[in-house]
Amino acid sequence: MENSENIPADDGHVDLSTLVSEDGKNAKSVLCQRCGSKVLCPGMAVLAEKELFLPSMRKKTGITQGEGTVDGDTLTSHWLVDDMYTFENVGFTKDVGKVKYLICADCEIGPIGWHCLDEKKRFYVALERVNHA
Ligand code: ZN
Repeated sequence: MENSENIPADDGHVDLSTLVSEDGKNAKSVLCQRCGSKVLCPGMAVLAEKELFLPSMRKKTGITQGEGTVDGDTLTSHWLVDDMYTFENVGFTKDVGKVKYLICADCEIGPIGWHCLDEKKRFYVALERVNHA
């Protein structure tokens, strides 16, 4: 009999075990990486796995500029929120096609998250684009 107690390999990504509570919610506050503004309180979002492309972080004015090649990352781990009023602080870019990007409400760095106009109750915040405290 083989004993499979293998712990899933760490990809070098965010260590989820310290961030996700037993019920799949954010165990810690979600903060802006740049200015520390609070985006979400603990327990307000659920972990969601979805492949989303987010352009590289920059100031708001740069996010929606430049048609064509946009550098960024495909991120898979997100905090999913179903109501924009759940956020403590959040801003949005103007629409890019059917997508709005979430940005910090205070310093306007972003995108920290993703929202599609077709899915009005789904707001994603990328774990790798925020701090947890
Ligand atoms: Zn900020």
